[in-house]
Amino acid sequence: MKKWYKGDTHLHTTNSDGNMTPEKLISECKKIGLDYMIITDHNYNTIKKSRFDGDMLIIQGQELTDEPGHVNVWGAKVPHDPPHKLDTVEDYKKLIDASREAGATISLNHPFCSNCPFLLDKDEFKFDTVEVWNTVQHSDNLKNMEWWHEQLIKGNKIMAVGGSDHHRYYGPVSFLAVPTTYVLAEEKTADSILKAIREGRSVVTNSPKSSMIYLTVGSAQVGDTAKLSENDTAEITITKFKKGHKLVVYNNDKVIFTHTAEKNFKTWSAQFKIKEAGFIRAEIDYNLGPVSTRVVAFAERTFLGNRGVKKTNKTMPELFWAFTNPIWIE
Ligand SMILES: [Zn+2]
Ligand SMILES: [Zn+2]
Repeated sequence: MKKWYKGDTHLHTTNSDGNMTPEKLISECKKIGLDYMIITDHNYNTIKKSRFDGDMLIIQGQELTDEPGHVNVWGAKVPHDPPHKLDTVEDYKKLIDASREAGATISLNHPFCSNCPFLLDKDEFKFDTVEVWNTVQHSDNLKNMEWWHEQLIKGNKIMAVGGSDHHRYYGPVSFLAVPTTYVLAEEKTADSILKAIREGRSVVTNSPKSSMIYLTVGSAQVGDTAKLSENDTAEITITKFKKGHKLVVYNNDKVIFTHTAEKNFKTWSAQFKIKEAGFIRAEIDYNLGPVSTRVVAFAERTFLGNRGVKKTNKTMPELFWAFTNPIWIE
């Protein structure tokens, strides 16, 4: 029986440029109720073997890091010891292929980050997943989302994840598990969680306590395939659907259903018709209020250099609060 497990796929410790020891980070992840966590220090394998400590599933990982871009390797040790010298497509492929051979799941990290974008030709690679949502929500993630959606339309079945890329607390402010990746897996083991992530059985949301989207077509859930000839009706349930947040459902390149919450809902449900074969996926969008707009625009200018955010800070594009991976429609 599959269950939803929540966790963070992208975490740093004192073994690279984070400021928490692995022990401290594990205890902080327990405090916020995560089921799994993947420690992905830069070019360093902090967790030698994935383990369940009776409470937390701690999955081994490493963030392959060099100027041309960052790639997460999950669930197996990178078979070559650092320092890695990564310049070319071939350099990355050598490590990625060897890691995959060892059983690893490979994720393209923050491809359109203003500071550390992926500069090589993405089409040269076969990634299992792409980190559409990296760290606290900001406008770089919209570019990741746009690219991911284009891939789905092109028929490139790359799955989406979120990762907090957590390094440190900012005073009392914590962005640990912001965002959170919920995974629908058979059991709480590294193999099962990573298999489900590769199969797109996941939903990304703002934090462990925010909205969750359950999208189904009959018995098909995200990552599954449904037959249009048998059932053309999809169902959606959102928990903690916030007033003013807008659900948008895509069927390939078309928006086939939207709903803006007129009040706060603990649970909200609806049904809608699927139009054509391909895929459906759901997303919750929102606009920042005037104060948050200034805060995020200031943070982007400070941490991400010249972001094209207007100096007046009056506008920010609509951001996403949660999104599902697709259900494939035949
Ligand atoms: Zn990175
Ligand atoms: Zn990172």
